[in-house]
Amino acid sequence: MKFTELGLDAGILRAVADQGYDTPTPIQAQAIPVVLAGRDLMAAAQTGTGKTAGFVLPMLQLFSQGSASSKRSKPRALVLAPTRELAIQVQESVRTYGKHLSLRSTPIFGGVGIGPQTSALRAGVDIVVATPGRLLDHINQRNIDLSGIEILVLDEADRMLDMGFIRDIRKILALLPKKKQSLLFSATFSEEIRTLATGLLDNPVSVEVARRNATAEGVTQCLYYVDRERKRDLLVRLIGDNNWHQVLVFTRTKHGADALAERLTKSGISAAALHGNKSQGQRTRALDDFKRLKTNVLVATDIAARGIDIDELPHVVNFDLPNVAEDYVHRIGRTGRAGSSGEATSLVCIDEHKLLRDIEKLLKREIEKRMLPGFEPDPSIKAEPIMKPRTSRGARQTTSPGKAHGTTSRSAPPATKANHRAPSRGAHHTGSRHQ
Ligand code: AMP
Repeated sequence: MKFTELGLDAGILRAVADQGYDTPTPIQAQAIPVVLAGRDLMAAAQTGTGKTAGFVLPMLQLFSQGSASSKRSKPRALVLAPTRELAIQVQESVRTYGKHLSLRSTPIFGGVGIGPQTSALRAGVDIVVATPGRLLDHINQRNIDLSGIEILVLDEADRMLDMGFIRDIRKILALLPKKKQSLLFSATFSEEIRTLATGLLDNPVSVEVARRNATAEGVTQCLYYVDRERKRDLLVRLIGDNNWHQVLVFTRTKHGADALAERLTKSGISAAALHGNKSQGQRTRALDDFKRLKTNVLVATDIAARGIDIDELPHVVNFDLPNVAEDYVHRIGRTGRAGSSGEATSLVCIDEHKLLRDIEKLLKREIEKRMLPGFEPDPSIKAEPIMKPRTSRGARQTTSPGKAHGTTSRSAPPATKANHRAPSRGAHHTGSRHQ
């Protein structure tokens, strides 16, 4: 199938062709006709499947047909996303694919000044892409009127719930018109997601592209057993020996990300850290430099890396295994996207053997094990409990509304029901913030 067969406007097709795409990905081929038909959609799709264009293209199409948008002051579409990075990327897709149309869009996210966003909203926009917390701030300040919303998209709904946004989401949903088209995208479908979907979606069409918790196809996975204290040296060796030039490295903690980036830099490898303690400017710059290969290694925490959209990212390294097995799937989904191949390498020390078992259980397969001569683990080293993240409120763990909503992270160990249910607005900021 080609994009030209989907019934999209010539301007949209031109923008898609400008991106170099002529064949829709499976999620696009399935979702676009459903959305164009005006139906509600429940889509199981991870980042990397092309899901963004799966809802952006038909949304643009529906709006391009309607009444002239320039006269309208109320937004017509609302996309809710878990992180500022994802909100920015989705809005960039709206801009890219809508460049030949006259629709206005704006991203709304926390951690930056509210003023410019207020001005953008007051000037009138058709499509708002927002993280829930900051959107509520704008709602409370009456900067936005949601009574004209025709299309609602919940992007990465599972992540939004993991991050404790359920109450914020419910408050926002209560302000939307009853009659609207709703699209829900999620990598996994927990009970909580299904409950949310049941209340929101009207006779939805379900589409599923990757098996739930399946590893992104085209990703080669392996792991190296190594001692905890020798991981940094091993990584330096692997990067040097294999001449890796664009590597996304995951660490469990912000501090770990900074320390590793520093160590790599000292070894002559250009590296930067990306995490929630960095300012928006620093994060944007770090991502830009990485995309343009000015830095070769980006060391990131799970939340910060969520939604990073880089075509054909060749290497992902799990410097630490994630505490939550599902995060392994999300992490390695950064590589081998939309059909290209990639490599995911994990460094596993004795403390992490249980996490590894959980991951292999989830994947329903074993990951290839390796040892690099000179880096074999010392059998006399005993396992230590994995460092628990700090639970105190640090300087950035402010609970003031409007700050850093996009960076809220989930609590560390496997999320429990209790930390899914944030008792009050802002309360989800009080959990441990280790990302
Ligand atoms: P997403 O899952 O929306 O984050 O998209 C993953 C990546 O696939 C992005 O870098 C897109 O630019 C790219 N992409 C989206 N649609 C296509 C397509 N039809 N063909 C090839 N790549 C695509």
